[in-house]
Amino acid sequence: MGKPTGFMEFNRQLPTDRDPELRILDWKEFHEHMPEDDLRKQGARCMDCGVPFCHTGGMIANMASGCPVNNLIPEWNDLVFRGHWREALDRLHKTNNFPEFTGRVCPAPCEGSCVLGITSPPVTIKNIECSIIDKGFDEGWVTPQVPMTRTGKKVAVIGSGPAGLAAAAQLNRAGHVVTVYERADRVGGLLMYGIPNMKLEKWVVQRRVNLLADEGVKFVTSCEIGKDIDAVHLREENDAIVLAVGATKPRDLLIPGRELKGVHFAMEFLYGNTKSLLDSDMRDGKSINVEGKKVIVIGGGDTGNDCLGTSMRQGCASLINFEIVPQSPNERAANNPWPQWPRIYRQDYGHAEAAAKFGSDPRKFCIDTIRFNGDANGNLKSLTAVQVDWSKPVKGGAPFTRVEGSEVELECDYVFLALGFLGPEKILAEQLGIEVDPRSNFKAEYGKYATSMRGVFAAGDCRRGQSLIVWAINEGREAARECDRYLMGSTQLP
Ligand SMILES: Cc1cc2nc3c(=O)[nH]c(=O)nc-3n(C[C@H](O)[C@H](O)[C@H](O)COP(=O)(O)OP(=O)(O)OC[C@H]3O[C@@H](n4cnc5c(N)ncnc54)[C@H](O)[C@@H]3O)c2cc1C
Ligand code: SF4
Repeated sequence: MGKPTGFMEFNRQLPTDRDPELRILDWKEFHEHMPEDDLRKQGARCMDCGVPFCHTGGMIANMASGCPVNNLIPEWNDLVFRGHWREALDRLHKTNNFPEFTGRVCPAPCEGSCVLGITSPPVTIKNIECSIIDKGFDEGWVTPQVPMTRTGKKVAVIGSGPAGLAAAAQLNRAGHVVTVYERADRVGGLLMYGIPNMKLEKWVVQRRVNLLADEGVKFVTSCEIGKDIDAVHLREENDAIVLAVGATKPRDLLIPGRELKGVHFAMEFLYGNTKSLLDSDMRDGKSINVEGKKVIVIGGGDTGNDCLGTSMRQGCASLINFEIVPQSPNERAANNPWPQWPRIYRQDYGHAEAAAKFGSDPRKFCIDTIRFNGDANGNLKSLTAVQVDWSKPVKGGAPFTRVEGSEVELECDYVFLALGFLGPEKILAEQLGIEVDPRSNFKAEYGKYATSMRGVFAAGDCRRGQSLIVWAINEGREAARECDRYLMGSTQLP
């Protein structure tokens, strides 16, 4: 620890975000960056506590606590304070293949379990992580690491999200010949076509993909395994396979009027928007366009919030966001102690933007949608919703009751469903004949990643269910380790 009194001298400070009313006029990242001197002070706030919980990365009360890739946080905080950026970068890359992604979009469970956070605002770990890797790229320190020798083994990775990319990076490092198959036209999974530009600009993703290609990883895009290439054939052609196809089946809301024009899954909106932005700077007119329209987003979380931010940038006329759950408290509740992830009320970027433009936070809590209403031509015109009461669960049924007489009808032209995802699509499990778990994810034990078919491994959202980028990186790295052990009899991979 460079400065024993740092946590007493310096307050937590983050770079200010760009002005919400201005940033909705473009698709650029909304975070600003921090001067080096300020970053060093933030590094000095780390106490190098005897038992740092920030890098433990376990699950407590169903939420991540500490960093799932076990980043060596106190070490690089200290190195940043001392100005040893190159060494900090080396420490960071030891545990995380893609800190430029997590440093931008990770919810930072590390900060929720920072020991300083028991009494004071926690260390700004995520921002320091982002600054280390950004400086690494700026200084030209991040270069392709081509393996010295090749093993002659071939591995196919299906899916190019963070799990597939991390698995590919590690397996290539071990000397195997790795080919990543991706059905979309661009590599990156949800990094490319889920998370919008203002959170993660796509040149940041492509920069890392180019590095991996320079290291020797082969990418085949616009190729759907199971349709364009039979999965059994692919298994026969390779010494092993890693499935990293994500959890792509969206949860539906099967209520009257679901078929009306204007009701869409969130991903139809987000995918189309980013593709149009990348293909033509939004000029091809191929994405859903909510300019001048009334929009309601059903469901919170990252997906719902990204629909808000995207609607704001397209110029929607009004914006409402339904959450079925109650509003979280401003402080940790008694049943949510440190080092658990703090389940507290937060304002994400999309909420802030809607509030800045329309005058109030777009969220309405404890609300359930019961019907979509249309016109004679099948166009969505409004929806009907009711208030729910979580203090009165239905015996043997729903965990809430609908409040009698609370029915409201709200006008809307578009509704986006952001209700979560229900595991991977069936086709690969069917073709390969591998087992799935009761939640329809590929069945493979955490830490082992082996499916019921020899030489077929599974990692990321398709194994653990819808989760976070940092967990996908953790699983991709570890699945690569187990795959390498299977291929070679032992492994040097972490
Ligand atoms: C809108 C949205 C916003 C999010 N925001 C955040 C955030 O801010 N922070 C965070 O930590 N997490 C966020 N998440 C979650 C995070 O993106 C995922 O947990 C993570 O991307 C999972 O990684 P993965 O590699 O397992 O799968 P994915 O990223 O889903 O990648 C799977 C890839 O497999 C491809 N594929 C599927 N089937 C086939 C096939 N048969 N053949 C070839 N390719 C195939 C898909 O096209 C896709 O590219 C968000 C999720 C969504 C939907
Ligand atoms: S990857 Fe996420 S949890 Fe880990 S140090 Fe970075 S921000 Fe924290």
